[in-house]
Amino acid sequence: MTSISPERIHVLNKHDVNVEGNYVLYWMIANRRLHYNPSLQYAVEIAQKLGKPLLVFEAVSTRHEYASNRIITFMTQGLLDNLEQFNAHHVRYIPWVSTPLQSGAGLLEMLAAKSCAVVTDLFPTYHPKYVLNQVKARLSVQFVAIDGNGVLPLSLGERAFPTAHSFRRHVHDHFAHHWALTPEANPIPKKHDLWIPDEMFESIIKASGVELTPFEWLWRVSQGGTIGENALSALDIDHEVSAVTAMIGGHSSAGVRLNRFMDEGLNHYHTNRNDFIKPAVSGLSPWFHFGHLSTVEVISRILEQEGWNSTFIDHSRRGSRSGWWGLSEPVETFLDQIITWRELGFNFAYYRDDHTSIDSIPDWAKKSLDLHRNDPRSNYTFEQLEAAQTDDELWNAAQRQLTRLGIIHNYLRMLWGKRILEWAPSPEQAAEWMIRLNDRWALDGRDPNSYTGIFWVLGRHDRAWGPERPIFGKIRYMSSANTARKLKVGPYLKRWAKDALQSNEFS
Ligand SMILES: Cc1cc2nc3c(=O)[nH]c(=O)nc-3n(C[C@H](O)[C@H](O)[C@H](O)COP(=O)(O)OP(=O)(O)OC[C@H]3O[C@@H](n4cnc5c(N)ncnc54)[C@H](O)[C@@H]3O)c2cc1C
Repeated sequence: MTSISPERIHVLNKHDVNVEGNYVLYWMIANRRLHYNPSLQYAVEIAQKLGKPLLVFEAVSTRHEYASNRIITFMTQGLLDNLEQFNAHHVRYIPWVSTPLQSGAGLLEMLAAKSCAVVTDLFPTYHPKYVLNQVKARLSVQFVAIDGNGVLPLSLGERAFPTAHSFRRHVHDHFAHHWALTPEANPIPKKHDLWIPDEMFESIIKASGVELTPFEWLWRVSQGGTIGENALSALDIDHEVSAVTAMIGGHSSAGVRLNRFMDEGLNHYHTNRNDFIKPAVSGLSPWFHFGHLSTVEVISRILEQEGWNSTFIDHSRRGSRSGWWGLSEPVETFLDQIITWRELGFNFAYYRDDHTSIDSIPDWAKKSLDLHRNDPRSNYTFEQLEAAQTDDELWNAAQRQLTRLGIIHNYLRMLWGKRILEWAPSPEQAAEWMIRLNDRWALDGRDPNSYTGIFWVLGRHDRAWGPERPIFGKIRYMSSANTARKLKVGPYLKRWAKDALQSNEFS
């Protein structure tokens, strides 16, 4: 028996648990944290039931298309944070970064051979999804993936929801039940026998052939700057995408940012989130993406602060953007983004294999874009866009923020995409360019919500708008001129000007 809700448990092969095994292996590939981690909770429970120790192995792959200094540095900072947390909880934890000589898949097979079962994380897109498909047939012990992606289990949806409106009703129907089943804040019991003694640990490492990643190398990478660059230079990754110093990976620094948002941002979220000087946003998407922080932790903090319980719910507001929670406007607006919009993207990626393709946009959008296929366009090249060399200074500033800092201001992210649709030779090319730019440069890229955002630009999860316009047809239109009229963009243009301080110290 386990305390994890069955909808989160995905058994990936037909093997039984091997009671003769030496330990339970948790292969951490997406929920890269100790807190609010249902995969860890499940692994602890099986280990305790079998009376076996636990080995947590956090694998960072450098062998995927967008692996770069930026991503590997942020992830390595997370590894060191986890190392400290697991040491403090007396659980064996191996932080590991793949090298040209040792890949993750082969290593997993070797470590799994002497284990009772392997527990891992379910993630519905990009490399973690690919890895699970690659290795699931190759293990000879039970292999279980746990879905810790959000407040609702992905399997509950049963289909891809086309709109935020329909998904919001799904959230309202299931939230209260699943909120009562959320994973524990700290899944490691105060007293336990999960520790692997030194001698046994050494023999596991020897038998598996794993080459441990040296602590000193991890530390050097985590420093970023020249020290980090030198440490990463031997890896076959994208070195042009440099590490950012304004955002440090790991649960601890996410906590600092979360505290700041709770104190200064949340109460103004509904009115000030598009502000250019001090946007009232959490800025947490990179930490959510790498699993360093669970959205469940953030939502718990907020609901606790509000003294919320299910008696607050106004059932007459089912499906409405506000009013259902019985909370203040800023809090309800934030909950709608972090639950409805975020989990809509995860739902779509889970049920639609084509979620990274333009095939996934609705028929009305396909038809409308097709009708305007031959409309005249500016035809910038991809290289011009990547280098922020357009005639639109606001767009260039957003692109520079992306390449220098690894994120774009929330509101400008939409404008950024809409202008690429306007400039690329075709809608298909626009989708491909947005994905290439966002997945390469954004710290939170390669996420289900990267593709929600990018295909929202092309009409997914949206409706038809009038008047019909060149290139866009009935797709929602946005322009830099309108944005500049609506919002005070001056400080932003200055901060991300071509000749502005090249530092990425500012967030
Ligand atoms: C073209 C384009 C590309 C995008 N690429 C990404 C991406 O690569 N990764 C990514 O996580 N998001 C992406 N988004 C969605 C959204 O812009 C970001 O989630 C948001 O800007 C993150 O900033 P924040 O953490 O301060 O959000 P906050 O406003 O503080 O919101 C908290 C969390 O709620 C979720 N959220 C908020 N807004 C949205 C939204 N519109 N859609 C889905 N989830 C949302 C995110 O998980 C976010 O971290 C993209 C949007 C567009 C239009």
